[in-house]
Amino acid sequence: MQIAVLRESAAGERRVALVPETVARLVKAGHEVRVEREAGVAAGFGDEAYAAAGARVGTVGEALDRAEVVVAVCRPSPEASDRLPRGALLVALLQPDRSAPLLDRLAARGVDALAMEKVPRTTRAQAMDALTSQASLAGYKAVLLGAVALSRILPMMTTAAGTLAPARAFVIGAGVAGLQALATARRLGAITSAFDVRPAVKEQVQSLGAAFVEVPAVAAEGPGGYAQELGRDEQARVLEAIAGHLKDQDLVVTTAAVPGKPAPRLVTARMVGAMRPGSVIVDLAAETGGNCELTRAGETVEAHGVTILGPLDLAATIPHHASQAYGRNVLAVLAHLSTAEGALRLDPADEITGAMLVVHDGRVR
Ligand code: NAD
Repeated sequence: MQIAVLRESAAGERRVALVPETVARLVKAGHEVRVEREAGVAAGFGDEAYAAAGARVGTVGEALDRAEVVVAVCRPSPEASDRLPRGALLVALLQPDRSAPLLDRLAARGVDALAMEKVPRTTRAQAMDALTSQASLAGYKAVLLGAVALSRILPMMTTAAGTLAPARAFVIGAGVAGLQALATARRLGAITSAFDVRPAVKEQVQSLGAAFVEVPAVAAEGPGGYAQELGRDEQARVLEAIAGHLKDQDLVVTTAAVPGKPAPRLVTARMVGAMRPGSVIVDLAAETGGNCELTRAGETVEAHGVTILGPLDLAATIPHHASQAYGRNVLAVLAHLSTAEGALRLDPADEITGAMLVVHDGRVR
């Protein structure tokens, strides 16, 4: 396959779709990789490293010339998408549910597209799962941001001046990001706890040394292992339990999400008002409306002495490792699409390819 790696154009995006390590593996497998100049610089991967890995580094035009597969992190701008070669396959985090104009444009141009968000969450596709790799990093970073914003330290510390008590960290939504946040907070010495509506999570939370906040008769696991929206009674019981628990917490990381729905509202302004001054909420659900009523996406809000952070796209703030992990996800996708002879085979009937294919044969699927 002839594979092109483009430099990301979105503001603040420092990741790159393939790193030299993954390029070397593709080249070894017989593929040709062309990389746009400085594509990996912001993530700490220089052009020389790509060249040493066997890539050809050049202008965007040179990278795209005769490309069969174009790999990227974010969806391309309209101008960039118009440069994609007719008949090529674009692989990226395309946000297909929010990208109708882009998908139409790709279809009109005869470019096929695979959305990395649509990798099925099955054991077979695990190595391709970019949402998981990026959410894990976001969960880790959320705790670091919260720790910096806190007016206290996370671990217990004993000095000649006496002992400082450890902070209490509470995670709401213990999925991929939430479990990583729990593990990180505990490594930093906090006393940890978590709540989730999926009963299966309790054991995972406890295995990370955290307490699970129980809410009787709440179990909302739906198809594919994802959470479902809560009924009115369940929601009331959940809010009551969270309100009771929040009063004693210092750092709260919220990640609760239900696929295709706005983020569930789990921390009200009133609950924030009852928290200890100096405490911090890091709301990873900010992009879909926030789990906290006071969150503003991409901003930091101070209310009743509590700091509420609503960061967007935290994985992009750890570009080196986020690119390394994303690159391995892309590598696994490319391996899945490659025939034994190294040719591209796009089979819409395949369980994984079919789920990811959002534009094919001039049509948006
Ligand atoms: P997500 O981002 O959709 O949601 C984050 C968490 O919020 C989930 O744990 C969810 O249960 C929780 N949540 C939703 N509503 C809530 C509420 N009202 N109160 C509290 N918590 C709430 O989920 P995710 O992190 O992407 O993972 C979802 C599931 O997929 C998990 O079961 C995970 O183990 C599974 N998964 C499987 C694979 C695989 O098999 N390859 C890969 C990744 C994830």
